[in-house]
Formats: sequence, C-alpha cells, structure tokens
Amino acid sequence: MKRCRRCGEEKAAAAFPANRRMRDGLGSWCRVCAAWAVRRWRDRNPEKVAAYNLSRRAVPVFWSEADRLGLLEQAQRARERSERFEREGDRPAPPGADR
Ligand SMILES: [Zn+2]
Repeated sequence: MKRCRRCGEEKAAAAFPANRRMRDGLGSWCRVCAAWAVRRWRDRNPEKVAAYNLSRRAVPVFWSEADRLGLLEQAQRARERSERFEREGDRPAPPGADR
C-alpha cells in the first residue's frame, strides 16, 4: 500500500503509475489524481496541447494550415472523448477537483 500525496488515500501499488525517478519506482500521485492533473493542464493549455500534437507529426504544419486541415478540431474531439470517458467511468473524482 502507498499513500497518494495528492488525495491522501492509501491505495495498492497498482493504483500508482510507474516513475523510475522515485525510490520505490512509483509516482507519488495515484492514477486518478495524475489523470485529473493532466486533464486540468490540458483544459488550461489547449494551445500547447494542439502545438504538441502538431509537433509530433512527421511534417511540420503551420497554424493556418492546421486550421484548414481541421487538425485543431480533431484535437478538440479527442479531448472530448477522453473527458466523456472520465465522466462515465466509475472512478471517483479526486477530492478538490473543481471541475
Ligand atoms: Zn490520489
């Protein structure tokens, strides 16, 4: 068992993502909290998410081009999918989640 540093709950080791930098090889936040933090960051930095997605393409794309190709819309839809999954999944929202 390991205590999550964010929600303070004690959970099985399997509930924590791997993190080689940690002494015990596990992240200090449980998966629920880690997923929540990523999602919140994405919500607050949509342009960085879009830029990151574009940067992973083999061929760099200019913003105007990305817009024309509907890539931004695509990124938005992917986010909505993951949000729906989180809403409808059976995971409880971490305490302090404000959205
Ligand atoms: Zn947690």
